[in-house]
Parts: sequence; C-alpha cells; structure tokens
Amino acid sequence: FSGADIENMVNEAALLAAKRNKEAVDQNCFDEAKDRVMMGPERRSLAISEEDKRVTAYHEAGHALLRHVIPENDPNYKSTIIPRGRALGVSMALPIQERRNFSKRYLLANIATALGGRVAEELIFGELTTGAQNDFEQATEMARKMVTQWGMSELGPLSFGKREEQIFLGKELAHHKDYSEKTAIEIDEAIRGIVMECYNKARHLLETYLDGLKKLADGLLERETLVAEEIEEILGPRPEISPI
Ligand code: ZN
Repeated sequence: FSGADIENMVNEAALLAAKRNKEAVDQNCFDEAKDRVMMGPERRSLAISEEDKRVTAYHEAGHALLRHVIPENDPNYKSTIIPRGRALGVSMALPIQERRNFSKRYLLANIATALGGRVAEELIFGELTTGAQNDFEQATEMARKMVTQWGMSELGPLSFGKREEQIFLGKELAHHKDYSEKTAIEIDEAIRGIVMECYNKARHLLETYLDGLKKLADGLLERETLVAEEIEEILGPRPEISPI
C-alpha cells in the first residue's frame, strides 16, 4: 500500500465502524476496508447461477488447498466466494514476515498455487472457464522474471532485455530487446516450461488431495467465506515436507 492507500483504508474502516454502531474501529472493519480498497466493495446483489457458484468454490478451493499443502507458500488468510469488484471469488495469503528476497522454490510454489484454480475446475468439471485470466497473467509474469531477470532457468544466470522503469510508479516504460530472435524463442520455451511444470505439479497435488478439495469447496458453498483457522480445521495441519 502507498500512503494514500493506507489513508483511504483507515477512512473506510472508520466509516464502517460508524455504520455498524461500533465503539471502536476493530480488526473486522480494517479487514473489510482493506478488501474494499484493493478490490472494490462486495457485490452481494450480483445474480450468480448455482453452477457458477460451484465453479468459483472449486476454483478458490484449488488455490487454498495448494497454498496449504506446499509449505514454501505463505499461509492462507482467507478464501471467499462473495463477489467483489470484478472477481467472483478471492483467496488470499498472509505472509508471516515482510519478504525482500524470493527463493526459486517460493516462486515455483506461488506459480503452482496461482494455477490451482484452473486445475481444480478442470479436474471437477472437465471444462475450462475464463475465470483464471488473472491467475495466468500472474503465473506467466513470475515465470518470465525467473527466466529474464533472475537467472533461474536453463538459460543460465543472464539478464535479458534492458528495462527502463519509472521506479516511483513501478511501471515499465520501455523494453529494449538486447537478444537475438533465437534467444527470444528460447526464452519463450523456458517460460512455458516453468509454467507447464508447475501446472502438472498442481494437477498431481489436487488429485492426491481430492478429498480435501471437495471438503473445502463444500465449506465455501455453505459458509461463503473461510478464514485461515477454518481452512486448517478442514484440511488438518500443513505438511512439513514439501511435495514439490
Ligand atoms: Zn484464481
């Protein structure tokens, strides 16, 4: 969050506390305010078919389950199928500490978890939906950085493509290609290789934990939102040894 985002969140939290006749601005108010600032208000009035609800529940359960069973991941914070902003559902992690440096294993775990939503839909319904667009963008972007900036692929410890970034806005202004067409193809292959490897791992894990996936999806359909403790209650303690 930027300073302005924080200010916005605190204002929202205060408004919510007043609206709910609370004597103090509590954690629930801040939690809701943070979600509003990040993703827009809840859209409970949105008409969603039972079928779409089920797909969303399995999609979010896929994310939450993989986050839970891959110990490199930050722990779950909550999963919900209440629509908010443009999303039909959300699953969130809560890092235990501020991260400044990311290991390859952490990144691979993140990519697999991002793909878990689509994999769960595919496993249960045998059908592909458009709901995973954002997940794919995230997964591909992470894999691209692993290959072109962080030297984490078979292309070796090289940096590809000089970037001019406007640090303040965090936006990429220009991308100078400083490699050959042949290398461009290798980069694309390496990115695809990472994403597909993570996809296959995600699929293998969800097949292994199919029972947990179903319980989690049922829990979401029943309660709409599951917080970290409820997810853990359904799935049991997190494994210590990484399945990846
Ligand atoms: Zn998703």
